[in-house]
Amino acid sequence: MTLEINTLSKAYINGAWVSAAGGALFDVSNPATEETLAQVTNCGTDEARSAIAAAKSAFPGWAALPASERAKFLRRIGDLMIDNLEALSEILTLENGKPLAEARGEIQYGASYFHWFSEESTRVYGDIVPPASAESRILIRHAPIGVCAVITPWNFPNAMIARKIAAALAAGCTLVGKPAEDTPLSALAICKLAEMAGLPKGVLNIVPTEHAAAIGGVFTSSRDVKKISFTGSTQIGRLLYEKSAPTLKRLSMELGGNAPFIVFEDADLEAAVKGLMLAKFRNAGQTCVCANRVFVHADIVERFTEALSRAVRGLIVGPGQDDTSMIGPLINKSALHKVSALVDRTVAAGGKIVEGGRQHDCGSLFYQPTLLTGVTTDMAISSEEIFGPVLPIISFDTEEEVIQAANSTEYGLAAYFYTQDLARTWRLAEALEYGMVGTNTGAISHASAPFGGVKQSGFGREGSKYGLDDYLDLKVQHIGLN
Ligand code: ADP
Repeated sequence: MTLEINTLSKAYINGAWVSAAGGALFDVSNPATEETLAQVTNCGTDEARSAIAAAKSAFPGWAALPASERAKFLRRIGDLMIDNLEALSEILTLENGKPLAEARGEIQYGASYFHWFSEESTRVYGDIVPPASAESRILIRHAPIGVCAVITPWNFPNAMIARKIAAALAAGCTLVGKPAEDTPLSALAICKLAEMAGLPKGVLNIVPTEHAAAIGGVFTSSRDVKKISFTGSTQIGRLLYEKSAPTLKRLSMELGGNAPFIVFEDADLEAAVKGLMLAKFRNAGQTCVCANRVFVHADIVERFTEALSRAVRGLIVGPGQDDTSMIGPLINKSALHKVSALVDRTVAAGGKIVEGGRQHDCGSLFYQPTLLTGVTTDMAISSEEIFGPVLPIISFDTEEEVIQAANSTEYGLAAYFYTQDLARTWRLAEALEYGMVGTNTGAISHASAPFGGVKQSGFGREGSKYGLDDYLDLKVQHIGLN
């Protein structure tokens, strides 16, 4: 079995590679060149329903397997991801555009969830609790909730779906997935690996499609789907939440962010520049935990901007397949227009371009790494998710002021701050209304740590020892002894 792109054109349902009824296809293109990369079967509601039916009939057998047996499948898939690192990274770069080095990092990160959850699956313990009377006993167990549907975005085509699949399967659930229309190939490649690992048919099903709303509608309205785990925009998250009400579905929502990145006057500036470059420019700024508003203390703003400016100038823009590239293209035309319009609006409102500020001549989806100063909290760029390689600097004077500004957003996913003051570290960590906080680091994601947000950034956690909870129900058993 190979991982050639031309083998990734069909849906994976009930252990078979199937075409959508009527043979409809949709194009997947390489954002670096805008050339068609693959034509993939365009699933409709019939395929979504048969995927749910397959997951439903596979569920009792999968759930009944000893956790240690399920763990072996997960470990094998994780190992196969590492064994096929280069092939998977190439597919990822071709469909998403990110530099190969980042793609390799993403595949390793995706594999780490399979390995993590293969181990966690064997540690789902129940409880025996104090009974109400001498003649009774009470046992609590965790049971898999059933068929789960997952919907994932294009910015991490492997890792976003990997961490949902790994957690669901570890818990004993079966799964139907809908990857983003821009990047379905990496998810289908995971199915190839699952097949190589001998995963029982129907446990994992993937339906690529351009008909996101129609397939989403099948997921939300199906009583056989017990849970939906979604990563994407807050707008679509709200819609799925609303549509899931009639069937009372369990939900996990990993939605938009507007991460503050705060640099205090006592920070190690070199480390802060390094952390910020990582937290801002990963995936060309297209992640939900990317630094979105950079608050820098007025005493150091000039010095910090100069250092940052040098670092931004050092970024090499180019197609992800070139080993030297550090910034690839944006995902599609509408992403580029949005970023470009946001920069123009910032400049019109009084912001100043220090670096970049225009489309890059590498191609029509490339945007120059951009540094803006003189940004204020009332500008659109301070409240909207940028999702591009644009870094706006906002100057601040006091800790109270910056905490208030950092929290003054409807989002609450990730926040970062740099300081060497221990007491301030505690104050900030407690005051910031965010699910994930990075102190003196721009890296905040690891399989062992819970990933997720508060406020309009959603609810539920992925990864960590808590990541299985979203896929388990509590069942209590009362036993009478007389
Ligand atoms: P983004 O702006 O990152 O593309 P979206 O929320 O639009 O974020 O997309 C994330 C995922 O949600 C993708 O897989 C997309 O196809 C899917 N999606 C978009 N609209 C709907 C919808 N109405 N119902 C279900 N899924 C949807």
